[in-house]
Amino acid sequence: MCSKCSTTAAPSALSRRDFLKLSGAGVAGVFAIGVMGSGKVLAQGTLSSEFQTAADKYGVPVELLMALGYTNARWETPPVETGDYEPGDLHGMGGYGIMALKQDPATNTLGRASELTGIPEADLKANRAANIEGGAAVLADIQGTTKPSDINGWYDATAKFGEGDLFANQVYETLQDGASRETGSGENVTLAPQPAAEPRQFYTAQAASDQYPGSTWYGAHANNFQYASRPPTIDRIVVHVTQGSWSSAINWFKDGRAFVSAHYTIRSSDGFIGQSVREDDIGYHCRDWNYRSIGIEHEGYVSDRSWFTDAMYRSSAKLSAYLCKKYNIPIDRTHIVGHNEVPGNDHTDPGNYWDWTRYINLVKEYAGTASAPRPNTYSQVVDNRTAGRFRVSSRWVTSTYSAQRYGSNYRVLKKPSRTTGNAKFKIKVPSAGRYVVQARWPAVDGYNTATTFMIRTANGWVRRQVDQSKNGGRWVSLGAHNLAAGDGWWVQVSSKSPRQGYIIADAVRIVKR
Ligand SMILES: [Zn+2]
Repeated sequence: MCSKCSTTAAPSALSRRDFLKLSGAGVAGVFAIGVMGSGKVLAQGTLSSEFQTAADKYGVPVELLMALGYTNARWETPPVETGDYEPGDLHGMGGYGIMALKQDPATNTLGRASELTGIPEADLKANRAANIEGGAAVLADIQGTTKPSDINGWYDATAKFGEGDLFANQVYETLQDGASRETGSGENVTLAPQPAAEPRQFYTAQAASDQYPGSTWYGAHANNFQYASRPPTIDRIVVHVTQGSWSSAINWFKDGRAFVSAHYTIRSSDGFIGQSVREDDIGYHCRDWNYRSIGIEHEGYVSDRSWFTDAMYRSSAKLSAYLCKKYNIPIDRTHIVGHNEVPGNDHTDPGNYWDWTRYINLVKEYAGTASAPRPNTYSQVVDNRTAGRFRVSSRWVTSTYSAQRYGSNYRVLKKPSRTTGNAKFKIKVPSAGRYVVQARWPAVDGYNTATTFMIRTANGWVRRQVDQSKNGGRWVSLGAHNLAAGDGWWVQVSSKSPRQGYIIADAVRIVKR
């Protein structure tokens, strides 16, 4: 059982004990002294009073502290172990308590909070009032000696506190909109809208035209995914819960130390979608099924159902419907799964509060079908390294020169020749019909600009000429052709060319649509 994605809705033993300690009749201890000493106690032991106390003590606007706490954790203390930094764990980005105090190799706001407040780290992690005080102390420290009266004067400090403008904008949008909820302990907490708060405009690229049009691009660090050329292997969608704020997840995927990423991340408040990894590349989000799946993160904690909003379900389902139609993924619980259902992992997300029936029904609704879309499709990739399916003479030498290659290497005929013989790919056609035939090659200046592919169709051989100095590293269509059923050497790269330049044989693919 993984501690990161616990489904328990109850506070951890430590935080429950501390909660009882603080809210009971015998309020005592270092935090309570601070509360009583402030002289502005609203209701002792309540969340509202804890925010007010910390705000007064460190000269931070109480509205800003509340917006931080709402953005990070919806004012609900997550299980302490959720905050532990775990390299290589999708949900191990860390951040303790309502204020998301961090402790990882690059950031130590938890330790800084302890220095500034004198409160031990263990208490800052587990005790709500201490955590809020620690957050206020760090924010005030970042802001410096000048404490602006205008809430917008705190924007840069907020950004620094939360590692970037993305986070600060989430906080300032919360300030603008206000927030209200009944916490798990039964307290009604309200942050009134602050119309003066101004999130900043900053420009982000749209996703590429062949990716989900409803997403915005926040590309992950190259350490955190693998360049690939999928499909054909995409046949699963994996549903995750971030265990942190939307911006903290996006920032985590941008961090070269994370070694994790999901393709898409959905924001709770409005269903806004950030894309971190292209669909054809392999995200590092569920280990064993990374190669075959697309990962969708959902902002929130498995321990708190309030994150799973209607806007989030609908936005995510629309994205899943798009992916299912695009990659012919059947819309069912075999192909759309939770992280907890991926073989060989110990995560529990999305957890018991995720409504699978609702989600799958919405995906079907958006896809416009109640059944699997066109299941009788077929595709096959044959690489120059595929056993028993590639044949070539030794005049075609092996090369790893270009990173655009498919698989580990490719074959090169340095001089076009009438006698060397073709590079031959053996393809399997399960049933007669119309197939799209595609080819890939790495493109390098000087590679042959008139390479001929030969395709054996039901009506005989056809030729397609391509420029191998262009369009490298992606599938290039050689047209749709009627193919007869069978298994044979039916796609070939000719050793002949009217022009000089290296002729490349790398990979071919057939797809039935
Ligand atoms: Zn997960």
